[in-house]
Amino acid sequence: MMAMLPYGRQSVTEDDVAAVVAVLRSDWLTTGPQVDAFEADLAGWTGGVGCAAVSNGTAALHVAYAAAGVGPGDEVVVPPMTFAATASTAVALGARVVFADVEPETYTLDPAAVGAALTARTKVVAAVDYAGHPADYDALRAVLGGGGPLLLADAAHSIGAAYHGRPVGSLADLTTFSFFPTKNLTTAEGGAVAAVSPALLERARRFRNHGLVRDRAAQRWPDEGGWHQEIHEFGLNYRLPDVLCALGRSQLRRLPRFLARRAELVARYDAALADLPGVSTPGRRSWAEPAWHLYPIRVHEGRRRAVYDAMRAAGIGVQVNYVPVHWHPAFAELGYRRGSCPVAEGFYAEQLSLPLFPDLTDADQDRVVDALAAALHAAPARAAA
Ligand SMILES: *Cc1c(COP(=O)(O)O)cnc(C)c1O
Repeated sequence: MMAMLPYGRQSVTEDDVAAVVAVLRSDWLTTGPQVDAFEADLAGWTGGVGCAAVSNGTAALHVAYAAAGVGPGDEVVVPPMTFAATASTAVALGARVVFADVEPETYTLDPAAVGAALTARTKVVAAVDYAGHPADYDALRAVLGGGGPLLLADAAHSIGAAYHGRPVGSLADLTTFSFFPTKNLTTAEGGAVAAVSPALLERARRFRNHGLVRDRAAQRWPDEGGWHQEIHEFGLNYRLPDVLCALGRSQLRRLPRFLARRAELVARYDAALADLPGVSTPGRRSWAEPAWHLYPIRVHEGRRRAVYDAMRAAGIGVQVNYVPVHWHPAFAELGYRRGSCPVAEGFYAEQLSLPLFPDLTDADQDRVVDALAAALHAAPARAAA
């Protein structure tokens, strides 16, 4: 049987392999020079905003919320159209998550819904650049006002994207990235936090490394001895090893090519699906230069499940991104109800991610389009569930 064509996958070259092997032969497998070098390379993509590499995108969110001081009694506003980690890391810190609905064109956080969700307890508003399309950061900032909650960008999908010409990583107070294999570049597991404020970046760096304070000028007992380090606030071990930072540096060099090929494939899908009845293609705002991680279509007339099943049976690994976060049983048990975010929930009912990754060939993409057309033809229309 032919292997399933995945919805996303990494692109790894011999240069990547050589970069990893070189570090395996060096003195530093972790906490060495590749970490600083990767962070400096990342800052080249965030408009110079400082970055802290961490062990995955979920850790990046946990670190960012911790750096923001999120804790019991605080509220964190998130959209439901995301991977659960955007919300569950805030829950892990004892905060209450407030779900705000998304915009109907881009499925990113709706500034008006955020306005209605804000309270005196709101500590962070977390936007998600769904599919690689930036959220409307200026509109979100205007709703938050000055001196209010911090703005966080979950940019797990969108490294390399731009908003009004400004790069992702510079748009919010805190930005988090994921380098999972399906994302726009990979370190196997990995992530990063970008923080505009040096104080927030320092807090993020400490939380990533057990909360340890090594700078003598900042220590309470600096004369203890040369070995001395102190914990002022609790942290965890969320370090990204040098081996993986080297892979990330090598991948970053090809990020422009990855993004260009993704954009090319998106244009080919847009053209091929424009006249296909029963589906609609992803929207895009004029001010956005997306870094397409997903190609999310809508399958109308209640046919999403039948089309998903038929395409999977045809060896096309389509995916659904995402089950609305507040629908998960763990959230339902906290009292969150279906129906509270109708735009996200209506989108979920029809959403289907088609394969999209830099090494997808034109021929394989044509096969996806043919399989979609055949699946639509075979699937009976019914009322949406
Ligand atoms: C992938 C992803 C995460 C989590 O990243 P991991 O590296 O898998 O832990 C968080 N948020 C979003 C939107 C994601 O897509």
